[in-house]
Amino acid sequence: MGSRFDITVVAANPVQGNEAIDLAVAEISRIEKLISSWDPDSETSGINANAGIRPVKVDPELFQLIERCLAISKLTDGAFDISYASMDKIWKFDGSMTSMPDPEAVRASVSLVGYENIVLDNQQETVFLTKAGMKIGFGAVGKGYAADKAKALLLAHGIQAGIVNASGDMATWGRQPNGDEWKVAITNPMDKNKAFALLPISEGAVVTSGNYEKFVTFGGKRYTHIIDPRSGYPATGLLSVTVFAPRAELADALATSVFVMGKDTGINRIDQLPRIECIVIDEQGNIFTSENIKIEKI
Ligand code: ADP
Ligand code: MG
Repeated sequence: MGSRFDITVVAANPVQGNEAIDLAVAEISRIEKLISSWDPDSETSGINANAGIRPVKVDPELFQLIERCLAISKLTDGAFDISYASMDKIWKFDGSMTSMPDPEAVRASVSLVGYENIVLDNQQETVFLTKAGMKIGFGAVGKGYAADKAKALLLAHGIQAGIVNASGDMATWGRQPNGDEWKVAITNPMDKNKAFALLPISEGAVVTSGNYEKFVTFGGKRYTHIIDPRSGYPATGLLSVTVFAPRAELADALATSVFVMGKDTGINRIDQLPRIECIVIDEQGNIFTSENIKIEKI
């Protein structure tokens, strides 16, 4: 997925442990083939290639993932939107951008964004992007989804405890061999080498979205890879959002969403969801949390 995965399992012996890890790696590769928008042969690319042309029949797994993504778009009033992807022609974070994009081009790309124009047919299991030029991408949920699936597969194979860490997006289960809960160190985006809190991952998943990994800088201002679908410009105001949730897919999607919604709306929305908590750090380095989170400072 263009990102690093680290897999930790608690197993009876090294042979069992390595077998389990191989299974998880194969599962992650399988998911990548399903959801990649880079691989021209993936089902996702098939949906994109037929935007404005015709509905495309897809694997039930992909269909259901898209259904859940649309539910998150509704929950976040469109802050999260997999059809943001048509904007990847405008905003590139691979070093190829040399100046701010043309405002007219940004406006044109926004007109192609809109989850209401992703039409699902439950009977036929088809997906139709109604406007030509529309595109979907799973950059904001893919790692979390893959982590959940790898975890589920390992559980089904009798692995009682472990961590699937998709570049910081973590799905955990069971406990450490010494009986302690798994814990996550939250880094301070103002100083990447320093952690400011160590928290138990009691609900099973923790994901962080930050503006400090993929970004471009123009005129001394940092533009991050999380785009506000309403404006077509990168979301501003926050340095990082960490979300704790029962599943990594949901945590991943919500971390991106809170980044777009901003501190007040974002935390307010999280406070209305059961078993979900968040930690938000603004551009000045101030730390805010949802109602039920207790930070144990280190
Ligand atoms: P990270 O890759 O750092 O974990 P995120 O999970 O927040 O970050 O995902 C950011 C990615 O999600 C972007 O690189 C892009 O592919 C995609 N994306 C950007 N803006 C949005 C948005 N508003 N809704 C859905 N996906 C988005
Ligand atoms: Mg995300």
